[in-house]
Amino acid sequence: MEILERPPLDRYDFSRLVNMWEQLVLEIIADMIEKHEMCDCQDCVLDTVALALNSLPTRYWILGSFDAFSPPERFYQDSMNVRMAEEAVMKAYRLVQENPHH
Ligand SMILES: [Zn+2]
Repeated sequence: MEILERPPLDRYDFSRLVNMWEQLVLEIIADMIEKHEMCDCQDCVLDTVALALNSLPTRYWILGSFDAFSPPERFYQDSMNVRMAEEAVMKAYRLVQENPHH
């Protein structure tokens, strides 16, 4: 049984819980694949995303909740966050290239 189908957890919408870095990392990966800067196979893409996300500080957000002080738009537009995500992806992809699973 899936853990989220197990009562009492089945009452809650955990899809609202999102990793803030995921969108930034996936945008960077999409750009790299489009520019042919990385291997576009499933193994390399998922390995790079996992390594990059694991190396970034944990940041979760509850979709639909209101927080005037740190709305998600501000997180995504913060150039420091964008740079951190880019560096994490570059470092992750370098590791993947050294030991690709494809
Ligand atoms: Zn590959």
